[in-house]
Amino acid sequence: MGQQSAVEIRRLTKVFGTPATESTPVLNDVSLTIEDNEFFTLLGPSGCGKTTLLRLTAGFEQPTKGSVILFGRHMEGLAPDARPVNTVFQSYMLFPHMTVEENVGFGLRMLGRPAAEIKRRSRHVLSLVRLTGLENRSPHQLSGGQQQRVALARALAPAPRVLLLDEPLSALDLKLRHQMRGELKTLQRETGITFVFVTHDQDEALTMSDRIAVLGNGTIHQVGTPVDVYENPVNRFVAGFVGETNFIDAVIERRSGAGAICRIGENCRLAVESSGKATVGEAVILSVRPEKLRLEPIGQDDPEQLIGRIANRNYGGAGTAYQVDVKGGISLLVHEGNDVAGRPRLQEGEAVRIVVPPKAVRMLEG
Ligand code: ATP
Repeated sequence: MGQQSAVEIRRLTKVFGTPATESTPVLNDVSLTIEDNEFFTLLGPSGCGKTTLLRLTAGFEQPTKGSVILFGRHMEGLAPDARPVNTVFQSYMLFPHMTVEENVGFGLRMLGRPAAEIKRRSRHVLSLVRLTGLENRSPHQLSGGQQQRVALARALAPAPRVLLLDEPLSALDLKLRHQMRGELKTLQRETGITFVFVTHDQDEALTMSDRIAVLGNGTIHQVGTPVDVYENPVNRFVAGFVGETNFIDAVIERRSGAGAICRIGENCRLAVESSGKATVGEAVILSVRPEKLRLEPIGQDDPEQLIGRIANRNYGGAGTAYQVDVKGGISLLVHEGNDVAGRPRLQEGEAVRIVVPPKAVRMLEG
């Protein structure tokens, strides 16, 4: 027998309201398996059903259809505190009149654990989140980042097997958010607890996760490692939501091995290394990430090349984003490094050739 999965979501549908007021499902026949020990992220735009999926897993909501199975056990009818999970909420929801240590020990007190165990355990999880020394402070005497850590420690104290985190970093400033990404990842590795992390922030998802599920409109579009999801998006929604990309309408002109030569605009040609089952004459959508494109001086006159003019450029410290207008009404975004002195290499208005490596082009389903 293989290892048991931590979380199995099986054909879950959630419709809010009574049958009389029935609206479209917030989640529609969603299935998902999360392995023990994973840092797993639910990524999607606001309102796509991420929080609802988390609340169904925790037991705060009941499914309309389908099941939640944790470590092989069906959770139907089980209250949140009877499930091997705990949740860190977006607003930390600390008890203002309790000290840090009392906040952290709250769950264990509710479980009726002995005082000595509560103290030992609280001190341990406070050291895990690097708050040793602040045990007797009140929440209002803490910074936002420290309050966040108390919320984490409180959720970890009862030793859940799965920790659900609902946009836990969204109230922190950018620098602290970046620092906490690393700390959360370390915490997950150190504790071995399965983390299910909800965010609408693609950078957060890409930097922290073992695997990501991309949600949109109540369904899961793709599940994969960060590299999978970024490099091989299965459809237009995933390509557009995870990172920036250029979508190019094209027609397959001829097949060439596993790839194809595509026509874009009037008479430009683009080679694509892998073109799936697309057939000659078919209209397709290509996706190319801005950092995979290169801008070069215009060489010999070749009508098949992508030639354009820099419509505007946005300097961004580490590099520059160029918007390049290509004839035929196509506009492409290109990210390039700056010169050695740190200045953008190219000027607005300059005519350029856009080099598109065939390996960098993805052919998408609609
Ligand atoms: P966000 O990132 O904004 O929190 P989300 O992806 O977490 O969004 P959910 O909070 O799961 O999305 O909400 C999904 C949809 O379900 C929304 O349209 C929301 O209005 C609706 N919804 C959530 N909870 C309820 C409820 N208790 N009753 C009715 N509708 C609800």
